[in-house]
Amino acid sequence: MSRTPHRDTERHGTRPIRSRLVDPDHALLSNLLLARGVVDRAAHRRTDLAWQAERRADPGSRVLRVVDGSALVTRDQGAAALAFSSPDASGPDLAFLGVDEDDVAYFAEHASERRDPADGESWADLRMVGAALGARDAGLMVTAVALDNWLRTHARCPRCGTPTEFNAGGWSRRCPEDGSDHFPRTDPAIIVLVRDRDDRALLGRQGRWAEGWFSTLAGFVESGESAEAALRREVREESGVVIGERLDDIRYLGSQPWPFPCSLMLGYHAWTDSPAHEADGDEIAEVRWFSRDELADACSRGEVRLPPAVSIARRLVERWYGAELPGDWSRPPPVPR
Ligand SMILES: [Zn+2]
Repeated sequence: MSRTPHRDTERHGTRPIRSRLVDPDHALLSNLLLARGVVDRAAHRRTDLAWQAERRADPGSRVLRVVDGSALVTRDQGAAALAFSSPDASGPDLAFLGVDEDDVAYFAEHASERRDPADGESWADLRMVGAALGARDAGLMVTAVALDNWLRTHARCPRCGTPTEFNAGGWSRRCPEDGSDHFPRTDPAIIVLVRDRDDRALLGRQGRWAEGWFSTLAGFVESGESAEAALRREVREESGVVIGERLDDIRYLGSQPWPFPCSLMLGYHAWTDSPAHEADGDEIAEVRWFSRDELADACSRGEVRLPPAVSIARRLVERWYGAELPGDWSRPPPVPR
C-alpha cells in the first residue's frame, strides 16, 4: 500500500478550488475511543430512591472507585478491564452510572485515597488505558471520571457558598440553604484540522510540549459564541490562518467527551485559501503545513510525533491522511504515577 493512500485530486473545470479538495468521505467519525458507551444511563432511576437503595444492597452491583481521574484496571496482553468492587465495601455517596443489558447496575465511588492494588491490578487514567478498554468499560470510566471531576470541585453552592448535598444519584447538587439545584458542567471545545488548497494539513505545537510533538488546533467555545465562530477565532488566534465563511469551508465530523476535567471536543475539518501562518508564540509555539508525504517522512524519522489513538485529534489527522496511522508515530504514553 502506498504511504499516501488517497489524494482528492479530481478536477471539475471551474468549480471553486475548495470543492475539489473536499474529502470524499462524508461519514462522521465512528468508534471514537472515549465515545463508545453502551451502558443505559437509566436517568429515570437517578431519583428513584427505593430502586437506588435496592441496587446498592445488591452484591451483584458493581462499583468503580475513582481517585483524581484514575481507576483500578487489570491488563491482559494489549487489553484492559476495569476492576470493580462490591457496593458493601463502598462509602455513602455513590454516583449512579447506569444499567447494562444483563441488568447489572454500575456506580462510581469518589475517593481521595488510592487503595493498594490487588494482584494483577494497577491504577490508570483514561489517557493511559482508554484505548485498551472495551466499549462498556471505556464508557463507564469516561462518565465516572467526568462526574467525579464535577462532584469533587463543586462542593459549595455558587450562589451562597453553602456546602451542597449529593443528589439524584450524583447527577445534581442541591443547596440546603436556598434550594437551588446545580448540574454537572460540560465545556464545549472545538478541535480542527485545517487544510489548504494543496490539501496540506496545518498542525501546531503547544509551547509546553516537547520538540516535535504536533497536533490539530483546539480551543474552548467562549460565552456567547457559536462553535463555528470559536473555530474561526481559535484558528486565527493560534496560527494567523483565516477560515472562509462558505458552507463548505467547515465540516463537522463528530464529538467525543474529554474529561480532563470536563470538555466535549467537537471535531472539524476546515479549509483555507490563505495558508500564510504565524504561531501566536504564546499557547502555540510553532505551526507547520504538512503534505501527506512530509508528515510520513517526518514521523518515520522520529522528528514529529502525533497525538495518541485515544484522542479525536488523531482521528481528524487520519481522516485527512486517508488511513490509520502507525502506532509508533504517536507521542510516548504518559508515565504511570
Ligand atoms: Zn445556596
